[in-house]
Amino acid sequence: MNITKDTVVTLSFRASDAQGKLLEDGKTPRSYLHGGYGNTLPGIEKALEGQSAGYETSVTLAPEDAFGERDESLVTTIPKTQFPPGVKVGGQLRGTDDQGREAVFNVVKIKGPVVHLDGNHPLAGQSLTFQLKVLDVRAASPEEVAHGHAHGAHGHHH
Ligand code: ZN
Repeated sequence: MNITKDTVVTLSFRASDAQGKLLEDGKTPRSYLHGGYGNTLPGIEKALEGQSAGYETSVTLAPEDAFGERDESLVTTIPKTQFPPGVKVGGQLRGTDDQGREAVFNVVKIKGPVVHLDGNHPLAGQSLTFQLKVLDVRAASPEEVAHGHAHGAHGHHH
């Protein structure tokens, strides 16, 4: 079976950054629903379109095709007194940015009374290389298409 819209693709998925640092070791297979559902990056879908099980490829995506360029306006500080208890460096905080859009902020540093937050994706501004191996391709169930994600062992769990 070939990878087309509304197929569920199971991949071995290794990812590394521009410095060659391994971000994802590929030991755990992942399934996603193919066809523009936002389950994986568009550049990865494009590289796999029309391929079948056994296909291997390597894709390098520029930041704008991966997790975006860094936006320094999303780097901010808040007083520690406004900080919910129990959140530590490396943790995340939900909030709204200057335009009132919902954003997830990563806690990067706590210095004295000030908490430093960064709303950028941790991989923003990075070129990423993915080594992909297609393990399995099957037709998606109507339920998966309705939900917009893959179910099963390596897919979404409810
Ligand atoms: Zn579902």
